This record gives sequence, structure tokens and C-alpha cells, in this order.
Amino acid sequence: MDYFGKQLERTNKTNAADFRTQADVAAEEILISAIEKNLPEYNIVAEEHGTMDKGSPYSFIIDPLDGTNNFVLGIQRSLDLWAPGFCFCGLACGRLEAVINDGTELYDYAAGRLIALEAGGRTSDFQGKPEVLDDNDTFMLTNGSSIHEFLVDNLTHSFS
Ligand SMILES: [Mg+2]
Repeated sequence: MDYFGKQLERTNKTNAADFRTQADVAAEEILISAIEKNLPEYNIVAEEHGTMDKGSPYSFIIDPLDGTNNFVLGIQRSLDLWAPGFCFCGLACGRLEAVINDGTELYDYAAGRLIALEAGGRTSDFQGKPEVLDDNDTFMLTNGSSIHEFLVDNLTHSFS
């Protein structure tokens, strides 16, 4: 929280809207250091530092700061505009009924998706088929109610 609400240096990644701050990098370095100290054999897939494949069947997936844009703008979580992990947790605790994931990275949704599924969430692709987590990372996750069928009926044509 040393960085929250302060002027931060930005470094563009793919474009001006996709950037990191020193807060992202610092938080990630703390996490990587702790993992390498305690579980050095584990793979790490980190948003800012990339993939460290050590040949382990286990991997840590790190998104050091979920919602960098909001963080830089000083927007509190309760006013969140888009932070995938937070959205999936909102679904897990019943504040949201569905989350459409399209075009985010593994580290953006991995933890939140798992939490939502463990809370009873239901996932599929937009046609209602079992999701395939590939380079597209496109899926929907709902609270398991009839909204899932409603979304399949209404999204099938939009995303095909
Ligand atoms: Mg992030």
C-alpha cells in the first residue's frame, strides 16, 4: 500500500493501456523471492517476469496487482471497473451472477476462477461446451443458476 494513491512510473507492455508500475514489479519480486526461498523447484508464471519453467508438475501463477489501471487511478475495490480476479471472487460470494472472460491472460483469472469453481460456480465456453483453456482464454463462469443457459442461448451467436 506504499504506492496506493501516489504518482507511479509506468512502463508500457503491449500498448499504452497495457502497462505496469513499480508497484506491480515490487509486489511480484516479493512473491517470487518467497517462492524461490521456500519451494525452489516449483514453476512460476508471473505477469511481469514471465515464465520460469523448472520442469515441475506444479506452478505458481502470479498476478501481483489485480487491476493496475484502477490502482493507478486511485479507484477503490468497491468501485472497481474491471479486475478479473476480483470479479470471479464477486461471483463466488454471490455479488455477481456471471463473468464473461474474453482475452485475459492466465495470471489474470487463474486464482479467481478456482475460487469461483470451488464455491459452486459453473463454467463452459460460449456454446455451453466444456471450456478449453487455450490461448484464447475465452469462457464464462456463472453461479450455476439458470443464467448459465440464458447466456449460452444469447452469447452463442455473439462470440462464434
Ligand atoms: Mg496484474
